[in-house]
Amino acid sequence: MTVFSNPAFDNHERVLFCRDEPTGLCAIIAIHSTALGPAAGGTRLWTYAEDDDALYDVLRLSQGMSYKNAMAGLKFGGGKAVIMKTPGFDGSDALFERFGEFVDTLGGDYITAEDVGMSVEIMETIARKTRYVSGLPLKSGRAGGDPSPKTAYGIYHGIRAAVQARLDRHDLEGLRVAVQGVGHVGYYLCKLLHDAGATLVVSDLDEARVDRACSEFGAERVGGPDILSADVDVLAPCALGAILHEKSIPEIKARIIAGGANNQLRSREDGQRLADAGILYAPDYVINAGGIINVACEYFGDVDDEGVMDLVAQIGPRLAEIFDEAQRTGEPTNVIADRKAQEIITAAA
Ligand code: NAD
Repeated sequence: MTVFSNPAFDNHERVLFCRDEPTGLCAIIAIHSTALGPAAGGTRLWTYAEDDDALYDVLRLSQGMSYKNAMAGLKFGGGKAVIMKTPGFDGSDALFERFGEFVDTLGGDYITAEDVGMSVEIMETIARKTRYVSGLPLKSGRAGGDPSPKTAYGIYHGIRAAVQARLDRHDLEGLRVAVQGVGHVGYYLCKLLHDAGATLVVSDLDEARVDRACSEFGAERVGGPDILSADVDVLAPCALGAILHEKSIPEIKARIIAGGANNQLRSREDGQRLADAGILYAPDYVINAGGIINVACEYFGDVDDEGVMDLVAQIGPRLAEIFDEAQRTGEPTNVIADRKAQEIITAAA
């Protein structure tokens, strides 16, 4: 396993390997940058084929959080954690409590919340051992709780901005949108899009989740990877990352890609490939910042739930600026977003 020479290392400040034999905990916490404030980013619970895959994932996600928090105007640096579902993993309270103790050893330099595979209930278990946790149950009128509805709300505003920029349309009526992954974020996004009159095409590895989207929103089901080449106006990846690459991009028919999954591009060059193919790409960490905005408001306790919605809606205009610059300069949108994020972090450091 390579750490310092890992292709995703990118000058991380700290990487903590967490192992607890009695509970079976195997986790990695990565802190990419604390220049803007404590490193904040969710914990992912996932099965990895190799330890290297987990390390690569957490490093990429953590760097993405630095950029996401910077672009969202938050007083947060970037960090992320993964808990590995190893053989015999039992998801016991003791395991998550032990993870909470590891988070606590960092003294507030890392604040955790939900990511794929986690829940509000698990966050409450972690919170028994550390106060550096967010995404806890919502107190009436206050910011907090499951961040995914806010993430979906931000993506919805991002899609509207992209549709205006690329299709010159102000509404989503009759627009065809393919949503890959109808879990937490994908489900709430489908609801918003359905209410706005869009027609949905969906896929998920979990057939029950597809059934729910079909029955509640009249969505059409598509099997497996075919969702990426569906005949739609907008593709909204809301499952896992690295789905946009040299093989998948030529198959894409959508003119816009705007969804919630982190690290959608397999490599930075894929942004150029999308631009060359005439596809408008909403940089993932800009469009999916709604959840972390909610987490920040909960953690700092300075904005109520209504205020969070207003802040999340700003994702639309923020993306519109990037689309505008891409139109003027011909640069890929991911390159513009990376530059803007790096400028904010460098100025703070
Ligand atoms: P989730 O686990 O609730 O849902 C993900 C869904 O994707 C699951 O239903 C899973 O079965 C499905 N899936 C996995 N691989 C698939 C594939 N190849 N094809 C089709 N479906 C597949 O997770 P979530 O919280 O909804 O997060 C979804 C994505 O959004 C992740 O990349 C996550 O990192 C990102 N994200 C989530 C939030 C949030 O607030 N939850 C915030 C920002 C970014």
